[in-house]
Amino acid sequence: MTEKKDIKAYNYIELEQEMKAMGEKAFRAKQIYQWLHIERVERFDEMTNLSKALREKLSENYKINTLEKVDVLISKIDGTRKYLFRIEGGSVIESVFMKYHHGNSVCISTQSGCRMGCRFCASTLNGLERNLTASDMLEQIYEIEKDTGEKVSNIVLMGSGEPLDNFDNVVKFLELISDKNGKNLSQRNITLSTCGLVPKIKELADMGLQITLAISLHASNDETRKQLMPIAKKYSIAEVLDACRYYFDKTGRRITFEYSLVSGVNDTVEEAQRLADLVKGINCHINLIPVNPIKERDFVQSENKAVQAFKSRVEKNKINATIRREMGRDINGACGQLRNEVMKKGEEVRNV
Ligand code: SAH
Repeated sequence: MTEKKDIKAYNYIELEQEMKAMGEKAFRAKQIYQWLHIERVERFDEMTNLSKALREKLSENYKINTLEKVDVLISKIDGTRKYLFRIEGGSVIESVFMKYHHGNSVCISTQSGCRMGCRFCASTLNGLERNLTASDMLEQIYEIEKDTGEKVSNIVLMGSGEPLDNFDNVVKFLELISDKNGKNLSQRNITLSTCGLVPKIKELADMGLQITLAISLHASNDETRKQLMPIAKKYSIAEVLDACRYYFDKTGRRITFEYSLVSGVNDTVEEAQRLADLVKGINCHINLIPVNPIKERDFVQSENKAVQAFKSRVEKNKINATIRREMGRDINGACGQLRNEVMKKGEEVRNV
């Protein structure tokens, strides 16, 4: 038996082609697209304006991908919700729903696990499990909207995974989520965070999307960056910054630099000055993140005093900087930790 095709991962034009190939009228695509991306039905049977014969034909050839909600943790402090979803194949991913005064934001995963190996990050501890499909990414948003009854207005691709290491699926997701026939979310409300895969940043720039690019810089010199992030051995900071300039030239979008502060590693005022010198001339914003320690490593969060001093020095250079507000402190482990715990338990259960 050939594997059923993932109908939620087709854009409008592709779906039209699928229908034509089945000998159906092109306008069926419009109806099906609406059922999938507006009504968000989970079974072909629910597509009541299609004939029974067509519904049967569809379910023989296609599947409607859904995620299984495994758990939700709700913060008593600020209502942040951490979701654990099981994806096809059995592994578990995390997504986070956050309420801000400017709207609701969701942080989605783009891969189950990750192979980038950043030293401070929990998502990469067990390597890459699998790439998420475009519909796995869409579903994180759709499921959360269904569960909360609220609209999501901002999306950040900052959960587990390296989005640019899953380029085609991520681009397809961006296209689908911003499609006027679907959720129609403005690309300007989407931020993609990358550890800095230089050729892929350029490729993304050439696509002319309007999303915000966030770069995980985390150091002001290559030596320190190499200690924190293996990808720094492949691309120098200079090359990453060149790619950022290219991205800005092509899209006109201001770049965000993320900088996780680790005590005694990258958090001195001298480093803040070097960082300011590096990014000078780039239209950018710096997001400082006090590192969230994971038990597998001995990184220590910078003291509040050091964080403030770092920020002041950056700002003294007329560069915009903010400290990332910690959401859902009571339900937070570092990103990916919860997933790891559940996966480990799952293994124990399976081994019995
Ligand atoms: N792979 C992408 C997106 C994933 S994580 C990237 O590297 O950008 C989103 C951000 O959280 C990144 O800047 C990442 O470096 C940072 N991050 C991961 N684990 C962290 C931790 N324990 N403490 C602080 N920041 C962390």
